[in-house]
Amino acid sequence: MNSQVFQTPIEYLKGMGTARADVIKKELGIDNFGALLNFYPYKYIDRTRFYKIRELQSDMPHVQVMARLINKEILGEKHTKRLVAQVQDDTGMLELVWFQGIKWIEKALIPGKAYILFGKPGFFNGKAQMPHPEIELYSPEALKRKGNITLQPAYNSTEKLKQFALDSKGIEKLTTTLLEQYAKDIPETLPLYLLNRFKLMGRADAYKNIHYPEDAGKLNEAQYRLKFEELFFLQLKLLKNKLLRVQKFKGNVFEKVGHYFNEFYQYKLPFELTGAQKRVLKEIRQDTQRPVQMNRLLQGDVGSGKTVVALMTMLIAIDNGFQTCIMAPTEILATQHYQTIKKLVGDDFIEVGLLTGSTSKKERKVLHENLENGELKILIGTHALIEDKVQYKNLGLVVIDEQHRFGVEQRSKLWQKSIIPPHILVMTATPIPRTLAMTLYGDLDVSVIDELPADRKPIKTVHYYENSRLRMFGFMKEEIAKGRQIYVVYPLIKESEKLDLKNLMDGFEVISKEFPLPQYRVSVVHGKIPAADKEFEMQRFVKGETQIMVATTVIEVGVNVPNASVMIIENAERFGLSQLHQLRGRVGRGAEQSYCILMSGEKLSHDGRTRLNTMVKTNNGFEIAEIDLQLRGPGNIEGTQQSGLLDLKIADLTTDQELLQTVRKLVENIFAIDPQLAQPENQILNGAFKISKPGLTWDKIS
Ligand code: ADP
Ligand code: MG
Repeated sequence: MNSQVFQTPIEYLKGMGTARADVIKKELGIDNFGALLNFYPYKYIDRTRFYKIRELQSDMPHVQVMARLINKEILGEKHTKRLVAQVQDDTGMLELVWFQGIKWIEKALIPGKAYILFGKPGFFNGKAQMPHPEIELYSPEALKRKGNITLQPAYNSTEKLKQFALDSKGIEKLTTTLLEQYAKDIPETLPLYLLNRFKLMGRADAYKNIHYPEDAGKLNEAQYRLKFEELFFLQLKLLKNKLLRVQKFKGNVFEKVGHYFNEFYQYKLPFELTGAQKRVLKEIRQDTQRPVQMNRLLQGDVGSGKTVVALMTMLIAIDNGFQTCIMAPTEILATQHYQTIKKLVGDDFIEVGLLTGSTSKKERKVLHENLENGELKILIGTHALIEDKVQYKNLGLVVIDEQHRFGVEQRSKLWQKSIIPPHILVMTATPIPRTLAMTLYGDLDVSVIDELPADRKPIKTVHYYENSRLRMFGFMKEEIAKGRQIYVVYPLIKESEKLDLKNLMDGFEVISKEFPLPQYRVSVVHGKIPAADKEFEMQRFVKGETQIMVATTVIEVGVNVPNASVMIIENAERFGLSQLHQLRGRVGRGAEQSYCILMSGEKLSHDGRTRLNTMVKTNNGFEIAEIDLQLRGPGNIEGTQQSGLLDLKIADLTTDQELLQTVRKLVENIFAIDPQLAQPENQILNGAFKISKPGLTWDKIS
């Protein structure tokens, strides 16, 4: 076996040449044999029969013709330059035309020789024509190959590549050459027992069949094998990283549950924990009792009670002599956490500090001192928390709210502050479908609070068109009369910012007329308002001084106004599902029945309608995330964009969820039994780390 051969630079492939090697590198990123092997066709075309020239019709799809070349010539100048050739079979003449790759193709055309052509027929002045056909010199072997091939691979190409005769057909020639020469060198990467157990096609066969399927059945087998392999090694790597992390990063042991936790639980917690909250606390408890750093992602819908869970975890840390902190993405959120936690723990129970950009120098100094001497047990803040001056005496736990707003570096800054890194609990209210989480956070532990507190009334959601606007105003007045507050949210998209702002201001004007002073007071907040004014308006709304808040999505994250019971979303069809769900989560935080009104235009796209219907149908963030995944594909789900983990070559996290789960379990089992992959049958897996994709380290993911 000689698998090194796949590292060979692409210019060494027979028939390639340096010019073409350069462009294929630039255009497709294919720089060696292995990369070419992994450049799969995006579809397959049926080529089961040959057509006679007389049979050709202009409404035919791509067809196959066998004919002899009579003549070729290059016509025109510069922009009109084209290669024209005539071919003939026993039924008639056909004209072939090329506008690109002329130089390359012209060389390959030899008058008198027979060719196998493939293209879409057309007619010009009554003459049969075929623009830009794929063309291959006839030979018994070629014919035999074609006869065997019922499915012709189609490869993605680019205009630039076509100039170098690297259209789909050109690329096919390269993969043919490669496979003819080196298929025998393609190493198997999976252990035999897995091939047997899952009835997987061998790797070399799979590559042959993904490029040139023998038939549809073989193509299926090949695809399954390659998907399996792709997901398998991704999970293998993620879980191996997790094992390594566990070995590498020691953790503080929170041995006991003591005074702070018990006192809080017995006397201060104002409600019964939900089953989900209890389960998650247990999971965290287990993690923090081991001398290994915890890295846990806590997912839960808005209002599911993540903060309380975080607080109780912090109390356990404090019971064991450690300090804790919560990092929030904005000042507003940090302040809210501070207030919430102060209220929950009450006075004189534990020292809680708030550190944000607007903390004064004097206060800051006191905070720093109390942190260093260990008196301050809970510090809540923004990025200010990780400024270099902040020194903890004994930081044992970091809670991070809304993770994807914090970069990796920022997070690792925190741990360098202690020798044994603190346990990390990341909270997110953006539910991620299970399968995505398995990949994105494949090496983190994930806890899910999938249950809302029992006293919560589900938000009622309706979808209205413009003709219901008056009815909506009436409803708003009723709610305000009951003492409630209302959000009215407008979309603001960069590309259409001016127009969007105008919409918002027009909307604000209409609302101001409909809800006049002095009976009503309306706030407006958007991105073009100076931060201080924005803050001021927000605070007015928070304090209940205004009843209506007209805003862009600036209010999306975190803001907590329990008295706000109505969320109106204008042009709701323009928002993504997860954003709609986040916005809706701004209401339903108090004891009152809350409502969400989705306003839309009459004309809705299929997806737009699906989004709005989904919102009306369910309040469940995980269900919504699944539908979002179906609609948009994994690459577009919020929080996943930069991860790179999702550029899979053949597997698809939307359609291959079952396979992914199978593979995930399988890999977990393998590591459970053989963590070093040392058993003879598993040793092959160690080798695979070297040749599969580079560097998915934990740092990159987390
Ligand atoms: P999240 O951070 O997940 O959005 P919070 O922790 O802010 O949710 O909780 C939302 C509200 O629900 C808070 O007012 C909190 O005190 C309350 N809450 C949390 N857990 C429970 C529970 N088990 N029963 C009743 N209310 C709860
Ligand atoms: Mg919260």
